Amino acid sequence: MRTRYDVAIVGYGPVGQTLAILLGQRGWSVAVFEKQPAAYPLPRAVHFDHEVGRILQAAGVADRLAGMTEAGDVYEWRNAAGETLLRFCSQSAGVSGWPEANMFPQPELERLLDARARSIPAVEVHRGCEVAGVRPDRDAVELTVVTTDGSRVNVQARFVVGCDGANSFVRPHLGATVTDLGFFFDWLIVDVLPHQPTVWEPLNIQICDPVRPTTLVSGGPGRRRWEFMCLPGERIEDLNSEQSAWRLLAPWNITVENATLERHTVYRFQARWVDTWRNGRLLLAGDAAHQMPPFAGQGMCSGLRDAANLAWKLDLVLADHAPASVLDTYPSERIPHVRAIIDFSMQLGKVICIADPAEAAARDAPMIAAAKDGHQSTSPPPLGIGPGVLLDGDPFAGRLFVQGRVQHDGRAGLFDDVVGRGWTLLSRSADPRAQLDPETAAFFSALGGIVAQIGATGPVRDLDGVYEKWFESAGVFVVLQRPDFYVFGTAARVDGADGLVQRLRHALTRERASSQ
Ligand SMILES: Cc1cc2nc3c(=O)[nH]c(=O)nc-3n(C[C@H](O)[C@H](O)[C@H](O)COP(=O)(O)OP(=O)(O)OC[C@H]3O[C@@H](n4cnc5c(N)ncnc54)[C@H](O)[C@@H]3O)c2cc1C
Repeated sequence: MRTRYDVAIVGYGPVGQTLAILLGQRGWSVAVFEKQPAAYPLPRAVHFDHEVGRILQAAGVADRLAGMTEAGDVYEWRNAAGETLLRFCSQSAGVSGWPEANMFPQPELERLLDARARSIPAVEVHRGCEVAGVRPDRDAVELTVVTTDGSRVNVQARFVVGCDGANSFVRPHLGATVTDLGFFFDWLIVDVLPHQPTVWEPLNIQICDPVRPTTLVSGGPGRRRWEFMCLPGERIEDLNSEQSAWRLLAPWNITVENATLERHTVYRFQARWVDTWRNGRLLLAGDAAHQMPPFAGQGMCSGLRDAANLAWKLDLVLADHAPASVLDTYPSERIPHVRAIIDFSMQLGKVICIADPAEAAARDAPMIAAAKDGHQSTSPPPLGIGPGVLLDGDPFAGRLFVQGRVQHDGRAGLFDDVVGRGWTLLSRSADPRAQLDPETAAFFSALGGIVAQIGATGPVRDLDGVYEKWFESAGVFVVLQRPDFYVFGTAARVDGADGLVQRLRHALTRERASSQ
């Protein structure tokens, strides 16, 4: 263990792991301190979305991820009588170039991210090391770490990120308050390995039966997840046992003879977020900053979005390309997004977690009618991020940009793998490079910016017309994409490229009224 790092990360769940990789890949010295000697063994996430697929691609684990995921096509909600209440249909190719719904086991993903993080020379992972003290100063933060042999070691980092989960130790050191929507439900989560390969149709089902609200979804290839709501009056200690799991699985024809119980536990789902994610050199990400009921499968996804947003901003600040106040755009962009997802997850939960038969009947009638009319909502609302490093007044700024398959320099594949990732200035009609004056070009190049022309012909070929479609529907000719895949801004004509990059320079370099 060294005594000084660029960034210290407290907590090595999927969010700490991803942030460590994204920073380590950029060459920053990163230390991760995780109090548990081994990875968390209990059941948690089984779903990530297309945007998170692209983030994991950026973290360099896409190839090995393929073997542990399966695309979710339909997530159907049914009432006790088996009537359809709602159908969420997911596309196999989402806007980010990944399926809209990907089913996977979280412990396997964490294993993959761990191997990737440890392969990066700039990243040190210290397991069995609990952070027991946090002392922020003007130039650094000092952490007291209790190591595996019980000794206390002080280390310093220019920035410290608390990725230390729902009961965050770092959080109180930011002086943060928590907004809690008071939405609590306890559920028994059971992961099962059926002995025989089984085709589940549809793949993901929600049984809105007031007798026992139940979720039945894929946990990745060859794995199945059941979730059973704890009923009013039921004791958690009675529900949280292997015996209860088998009893509740029996009606699904899952027994000790034909399946193995991989993991089970009872969780209390909550809906809350922290109001302050940055105080000087201290930051929060993931469950340390927000928790939500898992009905939309978005808790870890939101944490990985935090990591993607924060990584490029810390990179700019550490490299002196932007003042530290740019870090204030991390919460200003992320909190509105995560609040909308918490709201959406809670809306789903309010429909699902009904244990009263009369209330369930009143819920079902309009939903069945809407489902028959095809009027039910089929996907979460498309979300943008809040105000931050974005071109003011641009209707596309803060919206997720697309990733499609391209051909370039004799290689074909997803854009990020073939052309590169980072700040990306793309034009559909002519080479935007020719539009940049030398000073603008030098600034963009110092950021590691990529400049490319994309189309059916030309240096970067748009193999499936994904970019052509996006430019056509947006009615613009140039787009400037941020390293986290959100649009910074657009220009209606190719000669607007220089102005766009200049606006970025202004947005990055201006001092904001900052906490520090
Ligand atoms: C039943 C269930 C189903 C879910 N389903 C989904 C889903 O389908 N999709 C989805 O996106 N999300 C889902 N989630 C949410 C997802 O699992 C979490 O959001 C995610 O694990 C949070 O990751 P994290 O890295 O922020 O925190 P964690 O994984 O909790 O990691 C925090 C780490 O910090 C460590 N730590 C704490 N304090 C200290 C300290 N002082 N010093 C050192 N280390 C410390 C802890 O030991 C822990 O390892 C689900 C959650 C549950 C419970």
